[in-house]
Amino acid sequence: MSKLCIVPTPIGNLEDITLRAIRTLKEADFILSEDTRVTKRLLKHFDIEAKVKSFHAYNEHKILEKTLNDIKSSKCVVLVSDAGTPGISDPGFLLIRECVENNIPVECLPGPVAFVPALVASGLPCDRFVFEGFLPHKKGRQTRLKNIAQEKRTSVLYESPHRLVKCLSQIEKFMGADRKVCVARELTKIHEEFTRGTAKEVREYYENKTVKGEIVIIIEGENTSS
Ligand code: SAM
Repeated sequence: MSKLCIVPTPIGNLEDITLRAIRTLKEADFILSEDTRVTKRLLKHFDIEAKVKSFHAYNEHKILEKTLNDIKSSKCVVLVSDAGTPGISDPGFLLIRECVENNIPVECLPGPVAFVPALVASGLPCDRFVFEGFLPHKKGRQTRLKNIAQEKRTSVLYESPHRLVKCLSQIEKFMGADRKVCVARELTKIHEEFTRGTAKEVREYYENKTVKGEIVIIIEGENTSS
């Protein structure tokens, strides 16, 4: 019986890999990887010998059918991305959907993902939330921000460091200077940092800094403060 197994990998701290992830990587017939160099480094660190094939946003459409046939003729094929959980702002969805439609069992191991620690440690309500991933850079960005402005649940965004201040200014503009936000930067790494406050306070904190690293932005829902 064939299956596709989705294996989350650390988002910084290598100690976050699970015992089950290590065993699954070891037992895989082959590993589909977003960046084979990154995956091979990870495998080397954990002394895992496995066959690695490239599967990324630029080839996933093209090799989908062949990959599906490869999975059908294997026992267990593992999908990994560079960091965190495949399918979450990373390649994976197309292949997973195709496997489901072809009755190939799909498993996803629980493990690292950036938005969960960011949301939980933000101090903003995490009982109900909306994951928005990356906003478009240009077309459609303002519409998405206007929709988030009216969202009652906590919203979660992924953002690049060089667009952080712009994004915080837009949150201020569309949601008001007092809307609470939390910027979670470099999660699980040495320079992990949480900056909590109003959109204005957090924007001012980052404004004259060179912002580096990986970032999750958590935005309070509309009218939840009072
Ligand atoms: N698949 C990943 C996951 O499960 O979270 C996300 C991959 S997406 C291409 C990369 C984005 O995730 C980064 O730009 C950042 O927004 C967020 N991210 C990844 N690692 C992070 C970290 N250590 N700290 C903060 N944000 C992180």
